[in-house]
Amino acid sequence: MSIARSLLLYASRSQRLAAALRNRRFVGRAVNRFMPGEEFSAALAAARRFADAGIGTVLTQLGENVATLAEAESVQRHYLDALRDIRQAALPAQISVKLTQLGLEVDRAACELALRSLVAGAAETGSTLWIDMEDSSYTDVTLDVFRRVRSEWPNVGVCLQAYLRRTPADLESLLPLEPAIRLVKGAYAEPPAVAFPRKRDVDAAYYALAGRLLERAAGGKANPVFGTHDMRLVGRIRARAAELGVPPRGCEFHLLYGIRERDQRALAAEGEAVRVLVSYGSAWFAWYMRRLAERPANVWFVLKNLI
Ligand SMILES: Cc1cc2nc3c(=O)[nH]c(=O)nc-3n(C[C@H](O)[C@H](O)[C@H](O)COP(=O)(O)OP(=O)(O)OC[C@H]3O[C@@H](n4cnc5c(N)ncnc54)[C@H](O)[C@@H]3O)c2cc1C
Repeated sequence: MSIARSLLLYASRSQRLAAALRNRRFVGRAVNRFMPGEEFSAALAAARRFADAGIGTVLTQLGENVATLAEAESVQRHYLDALRDIRQAALPAQISVKLTQLGLEVDRAACELALRSLVAGAAETGSTLWIDMEDSSYTDVTLDVFRRVRSEWPNVGVCLQAYLRRTPADLESLLPLEPAIRLVKGAYAEPPAVAFPRKRDVDAAYYALAGRLLERAAGGKANPVFGTHDMRLVGRIRARAAELGVPPRGCEFHLLYGIRERDQRALAAEGEAVRVLVSYGSAWFAWYMRRLAERPANVWFVLKNLI
């Protein structure tokens, strides 16, 4: 892992830096590149614009590691309202949540109940409710919760991170559930014993995992989503999907708001099922630092705004 990436991921956990930078206007301008606004209404308006261009969305309110049950309940209420608004607006928008934002560390049982209520709300909208994957200390519990909820609800999906050495085994254990899986490379600082430190190993792991998911998708036994902006990888995955006879739109490509927009539109125009993950909310600091860490060149963008 590069020094710049390590430093940015280290900074992402600093409450002090978060407080110091949150209200700086030059940071706000730079953050706007990755989100349409802090309010849910901005995310909904973006979802409409994408829908008009034939692109779906996944909406997520920024925030993680809430410290009280009251905060977790307010997140749950927010998402239930969001699902109602999406339904009323008839938009092809899904929701993605972090379990620590639903109170995982405060009360595990309450967190799972909250998740179930959101999955039920998403089912009324006919959509999938996604569970983000956080750092590796949460992998086991996240997959446990996913397995239990998936045994009752088909419309729940979970994210897996290709950089984790454990992921091939996790994927095998999940495949009998005929799951919806969003495969990503992984965004957190992890020790080399846990995650591949070299990018080329992560990329190779991603392609191997994607192949396994596509084999299952060809038989209608998995709903893979490839969450990546790596267009070379996307090209290889599309070629492999065609080789294996995955039906059209039998897998999806999800990208983040503000990244590779031309490719988002091109993929959709070529008939692929594409969604853009739109983040909103005021708790953007840790999430934004992870975006900078993915591409440290983005730091120049922040500095340009400062000047
Ligand atoms: C839909 C979606 C959901 C995600 N959910 C999770 C999750 O739940 N848990 C998790 O750990 N991670 C998540 N991630 C983040 C993911 O783990 C990676 O950190 C991120 O996608 C960057 O990796 P990449 O696959 O785009 O490939 P890379 O090889 O890192 O990037 C490929 C190319 O994409 C462009 N690019 C990538 N990132 C940026 C950026 N920040 N700014 C500008 N250009 C960029 C660059 O041109 C780069 O060369 C998610 C990503 C996506 C797209």
